[in-house]
Amino acid sequence: MKRAKVNQNINLKEYSDIWIIGEQREGKIHPVTIELIGEGKKLAKGIDNKVVVVVAGYEIDEEINKLLYYGVDKIIYISSPLLKNFSTDGYASSISRLILERKPEIVLVGATSIGRDIGPRIAAKVGTGLTADCTKLDIDKEDGKLLQTRPAFGGNLMATIICPKNRPQMATVRPGVMKKAAHVDNPSGYVEVVEADITEVDIKAKVVKILKSSKKTVDLTEAKIIVSGGRGVKGPEGFELIKAFAEKLGGEVGASRACVDSGWIDSMHQVGQTGTTVRPEIYFACGISGAIQHLAGMSDSKYIVAINTDPTAPIFKVCDFGIVGDLKKVIPAMIEEVERNKEFEI
Ligand SMILES: Cc1cc2nc3c(=O)[nH]c(=O)nc-3n(C[C@H](O)[C@H](O)[C@H](O)COP(=O)(O)OP(=O)(O)OC[C@H]3O[C@@H](n4cnc5c(N)ncnc54)[C@H](O)[C@@H]3O)c2cc1C
Repeated sequence: MKRAKVNQNINLKEYSDIWIIGEQREGKIHPVTIELIGEGKKLAKGIDNKVVVVVAGYEIDEEINKLLYYGVDKIIYISSPLLKNFSTDGYASSISRLILERKPEIVLVGATSIGRDIGPRIAAKVGTGLTADCTKLDIDKEDGKLLQTRPAFGGNLMATIICPKNRPQMATVRPGVMKKAAHVDNPSGYVEVVEADITEVDIKAKVVKILKSSKKTVDLTEAKIIVSGGRGVKGPEGFELIKAFAEKLGGEVGASRACVDSGWIDSMHQVGQTGTTVRPEIYFACGISGAIQHLAGMSDSKYIVAINTDPTAPIFKVCDFGIVGDLKKVIPAMIEEVERNKEFEI
């Protein structure tokens, strides 16, 4: 395996283009890919670069072509039967070999379970650094470097990190953080199909069987309405009221980390810095104080409604509508109101 040395003396001028590592699961493109394309297009304007999406897989031509309609300049489709199912070795090796050969300036990866797995491995294989879980990306107007901002010290301050000596500049971004690229009617980009530079021996782990979880999964990133409960719900039974309200509105249930840590609700419901980043049309924060780490995951919601007994709770500083009151009284009254106004729709 070719492995570059860190701090090598590289010619930075040889590097160009912004690469998005596109993610597919069972042949379906993950929404984070569209979000990264949106961000890549924004960054590309600052350094006059092309936006290229790289997707590894097999027999997914139709999905690949759909990506052109997000206005990318090019898609590199690494196609091989060996890449039909995700494997850390297969995906990280084939993508890093392409990076070493083609020299992109910036590489963005979704901070999903797959992205978190292959991102650091690719960075190590190509001899560069990686900033994980960025919440903001920008281009330095003076020298064109990528400014990678992420929470540090438990979310109490934001650190902006640069990669001055190595290339590519690599960052992961969590789903739901960046805005999706807009659809274009007449795409001008094209697809280049390349063969994977790997063989069976490169893939040490073999997929024997794929077993689906029987647990109902929650997709908070795509939800238009989220009703979240915090420590103010007082226990697991308090989530019954939160669930009833969410159901009435056709929304999903979210939670603060305090509730997840207490075992009141599954971690897939956690919103925040170490949970999911969400941007629904309406976010109801019920019995949530508004700690900075919670706000990091939901402050981009279109409307925030807070219900809290404490009028000095920080959540009231960020909400659009605040109700000072006991959630056990306020939520049933709101459910009743929704029942009266059956035409409630987002
Ligand atoms: C590194 C790090 C990462 C973290 N990541 C996350 C994260 O991803 N997500 C997250 O949420 N937190 C995260 N936290 C934890 C965070 O700092 C807070 O501790 C947590 O968000 C508090 O949860 P809470 O608001 O539910 O509880 P509390 O802060 O205890 O607030 C409970 C609120 O409920 C109100 N209340 C009480 N009774 C009622 C009632 N009957 N009706 C209405 N209101 C009522 C109270 O007035 C209070 O404001 C992280 C912390 C660290 C250090």
